[in-house]
Amino acid sequence: MEKLKLSEIAPYLGATYNEDAEFDSVCIDTRKITKGCLFICIKGERFDAHQFADEALSLGASAVMIHSDIEPNGAYIKVDDTAKAMLRLSGYYRSKFDIPVIGLTGSVGKTTTKEFTHLVVSAKYNAIKTLGNLNNEIGVPQMLFQIDNSTEAAVIEMGMNHFGEISRLVNEVKPTIGLITNIGVSHIENLGSREGILKAKLELCEGLAEGAPLILNGDNDMLQTVKDEHHKVVFYGIENGEFKAENIVEADNSTSFDVAYYGKKQHITIPTIGIHNVYNALAAFVVGYFLHIDPQLSADALADYVPAGMRQKVVDVDGITSIEDCYNASPDSMRAALKTLSDIKGNKKIAVLGDMLELGDYAKTAHTEVGNAVAENKIEYLLAYGNDAKFYVDGAKQGGVKNAFLFDDKEKLSEMLLNIASKGDAVLFKGSRGMKLEDVINTVYKGW
Ligand code: ATP
Ligand code: MG
Repeated sequence: MEKLKLSEIAPYLGATYNEDAEFDSVCIDTRKITKGCLFICIKGERFDAHQFADEALSLGASAVMIHSDIEPNGAYIKVDDTAKAMLRLSGYYRSKFDIPVIGLTGSVGKTTTKEFTHLVVSAKYNAIKTLGNLNNEIGVPQMLFQIDNSTEAAVIEMGMNHFGEISRLVNEVKPTIGLITNIGVSHIENLGSREGILKAKLELCEGLAEGAPLILNGDNDMLQTVKDEHHKVVFYGIENGEFKAENIVEADNSTSFDVAYYGKKQHITIPTIGIHNVYNALAAFVVGYFLHIDPQLSADALADYVPAGMRQKVVDVDGITSIEDCYNASPDSMRAALKTLSDIKGNKKIAVLGDMLELGDYAKTAHTEVGNAVAENKIEYLLAYGNDAKFYVDGAKQGGVKNAFLFDDKEKLSEMLLNIASKGDAVLFKGSRGMKLEDVINTVYKGW
């Protein structure tokens, strides 16, 4: 981050300050304080960081940002709401840099697409990206503050649970290229319907520069209806789009395809499996196109992809193929993962599924439909764990899966899995983050 002064930002934030101070980073966690930072006192659910204001100053923060009536022992700037002010400050800071910024959102596939996109963009630019999954109103500002005079591009993931969130984020991120991976059913309990989800994601357009590319998944039933006179809408997909993936070949641990676009063709191989990753990599290629990155360089960059933590990693555990996918789960990503399990080599296919959380009233239907998908993908065994997991079992049985079992205990599930899985089989582990299916993985790997 480049230096800022309280005297410069105060008028912009409508804030007051006691004495001027300069800072060269922004910090919200006293454990990560660096000398010369601005420590922003955020009131969280469990802690109110205002109580750490003095500690932050004694640890080397050059100033603190506060909204409560406290009198810190050093330089401070006072605003109405520190979290909102941090977001606005990040937008002010971002606007000092005239660089390409790729802003992406969608129901699923954001982080994976962000990783692919960052690889492509990095083929030409010194680019920063959202670290991990820091995609909300607290995370996005931190990411924008990473920009400095050496940064030539930024790839920023934006997430949301409610209406208005993307709008608030995108008005600070101010992307020069927008990308929406898909419209599924995540967070439908807050947004009412899939039309609601589409509307919420399209808030992306509010902060997207006039005439900028808006890259959309053309195979998504909701996105393919989008028309936008203010932006250059471009679709990608396998069925529909100006950028089409053709000749898809899935191998053991890699997938290759040709991108056909505007009369041209580019061959791509990515070191991961699953048709959903064809979409994710293809979207990244389209971003590269708009940044005038040589298509072969984009392809070379995509070949360097490394799956991020706990997202669909395929490992061979003593002859058993294990697809570890315990990072999160939604109906859309579940269907994608079951298709992957179905396509992969394996004598017997076993799905170990934990609940999909945060589906509200839609939970029963969603779990039942995923159970149906277990059957459609001809998966022989279903081991289900959680409160709504009974609906997986119901759905699978409706579809004719004979071996569908429900567990309320991960130990018992692990025991059964150890009994039924043998060399040559393929097992998928997938559930919402909160279900912690890695516990099962850790137990059974010891036995395999
Ligand atoms: P979050 O809301 O947690 O930020 P995300 O949108 O960033 O999620 P990823 O972390 O990229 O999504 O992927 C989550 C899971 O969804 C992966 O483990 C993968 O199985 C699946 N997935 C990834 N890309 C797609 C896609 N394009 N379509 C469907 N499922 C996908
Ligand atoms: Mg993510």
